Amino acid sequence: MEKFAQDVQSVLGIKLTPRQIAAFATYEQELLAWNARFNLTAIRDPESIRTKHFLDSLTCILAWRNNPPQTLIDIGTGAGFPGLPLKILLPHLEVTLVDSVGKKLAFCRHMVEVLKLEKVTLIQGRAEELGQTPAHRERYDWAVARAVANMPVLVEYLLPLVRIGGAALAQKGASGPAETQVAERAIHILGGQLQQILPVYLPGVVEERYLIVIRKQSATPPGYPRRVGLPAKKPIQ
Ligand code: SAM
Repeated sequence: MEKFAQDVQSVLGIKLTPRQIAAFATYEQELLAWNARFNLTAIRDPESIRTKHFLDSLTCILAWRNNPPQTLIDIGTGAGFPGLPLKILLPHLEVTLVDSVGKKLAFCRHMVEVLKLEKVTLIQGRAEELGQTPAHRERYDWAVARAVANMPVLVEYLLPLVRIGGAALAQKGASGPAETQVAERAIHILGGQLQQILPVYLPGVVEERYLIVIRKQSATPPGYPRRVGLPAKKPIQ
């Protein structure tokens, strides 16, 4: 964990507390133990978990450095990425973790209990449904997602959940900039505007990483998100 703490400091300029380091160590242990039974993630060795899951998730803060959100929804969180590492780093953040798959949410619930995290809401469901539910629609400062869908689909999942003035954040690999270009019309229709494409560098990782930030400028039209499955089947063009 020492190298992980050093990497966090060099990449993000943040010194983790002993309590936070212990929380990441517990998260890693539990992820390895659950993964042996439930196949939660393809990344299985401790070194890669620390860099490609924990540190990569934490890089989201580079997108909001001077203006951190109070409320954040993580769509397609899987084993809690990026939402849970962000919650460990920022205890005051109100985090909502969403995934359609029960066993992934069960792991997230287990982690919330083991780490005694407060102000974390867990929802088993689809982004398309939440986006049409008044309790969630246009309620969040930031909606984030990593490895969930191509940009034209992802913006239909994320932007309806974001309040006007808030932002959607997609963590993307090498295809991020090109995907964003293809999603330009969808972003506009859904009330967003591309704000920033920020390259991110992780120690020892050669693959390109990008944070794509889309500011919510105006209300999303009521017909979006469309019914479950339609955004992926027929992305907005
Ligand atoms: N974000 C995590 C990560 O980076 O490790 C998990 C990524 S995993 C490849 C994609 C996850 O998104 C899966 O757990 C899947 O169940 C979830 N997912 C995909 N489409 C979704 C939707 N429309 N609503 C909710 N969850 C969705």
